[in-house]
Amino acid sequence: MQRTSIDELTSSGARPSRDQGQAARPPGGDGAVIACDRLVRIYSTAGIEVQALQGLDLLVDAGELTALVGASGSGKSTLLNILAGLDTPTAGQARVAGHDLLAMTARDRLGYRRAVVGFLWQQTGRNLFSHLTAAENVALPMRLARGRHRAQRRSRAVELLEMTGVGYCADRMPAQMSGGEQQRVAIGIALANQPAVLLADEPTGELDSESADQVFAALRTANAELGVTVLVVTHDPQVSAQVRRTIAIRDGKISTEVLRRAAADGQSDVAEEYSVLDRAGRLQIPRDFIESLGLRDRVRLALEPDHVGVWPDAQAGGRRGVKDAYGEEE
Ligand code: ADP
Ligand code: MG
Repeated sequence: MQRTSIDELTSSGARPSRDQGQAARPPGGDGAVIACDRLVRIYSTAGIEVQALQGLDLLVDAGELTALVGASGSGKSTLLNILAGLDTPTAGQARVAGHDLLAMTARDRLGYRRAVVGFLWQQTGRNLFSHLTAAENVALPMRLARGRHRAQRRSRAVELLEMTGVGYCADRMPAQMSGGEQQRVAIGIALANQPAVLLADEPTGELDSESADQVFAALRTANAELGVTVLVVTHDPQVSAQVRRTIAIRDGKISTEVLRRAAADGQSDVAEEYSVLDRAGRLQIPRDFIESLGLRDRVRLALEPDHVGVWPDAQAGGRRGVKDAYGEEE
């Protein structure tokens, strides 16, 4: 992997523009940094099968900052572990920065985890070595990748700590830092070898709200200044107000997305919720829509000039009769 300093990275124009990236997204995700296609992960323990991912499709462009939300057990950690190269899918496809996650050897996987992805665990203690200072923790992955001399590693480590707002912690041991400070050091560790993608699994789950804000701000800074693609799992509903794209996962599949854009007045943001259409043309209708029209088993579709109409099947005894449903249209 090519190595450049933070300064070179930020001033060279190598940073992908998020707006361009989103507008230019090709069908099929050829330009996506993260591309999952019908991804399946089945856990079998003691003869019981759990389908943690059930044919998940996901495209994330270079430079995006995306939040992933969903109920406990919906498959968020399973997806992140696969993208991090810590676990392998049962079926389907997953590519990250051009690496095919189903075709990697053990050796490829090690190099992938070291240089292509950075990973942040929820448990602060899991991200840092307790016997190393913050700067030594950040320098360690660089040492393992054997790309720099000692003094260069130290100065880059301090630069990264300054970027995440914890430069003052450089010579402190983990025990001398708060949980939020440790997580911001952990972001530095994850960025040490200039990964294409930074994955974080509920990185603020154990923090008070002020520390959580600081950690999230550090993720945003990393995204904006280094152009690293960030995918962050969160339980915090506030977070989706701070990102452009929030993806909701339900039963091992992406169900909806919320996209946030600047409003016409330039002052505020507008958030719009979308259902996700998969490659086979399937989509999920929100539960409250289904309940309010009594939809079940099958529905009638009609193509209109600019939308698709969905009606309950009258014979199946939908709550609204055929007259109502069609009467509305005429
Ligand atoms: P989330 O992170 O959204 O809470 P997970 O990805 O951890 O969800 O889990 C998804 C489903 O897979 C859950 O039903 C969970 O119990 C199951 N699961 C996760 N890890 C394992 C495992 N190692 N063995 C068996 N089942 C697992
Ligand atoms: Mg989880």
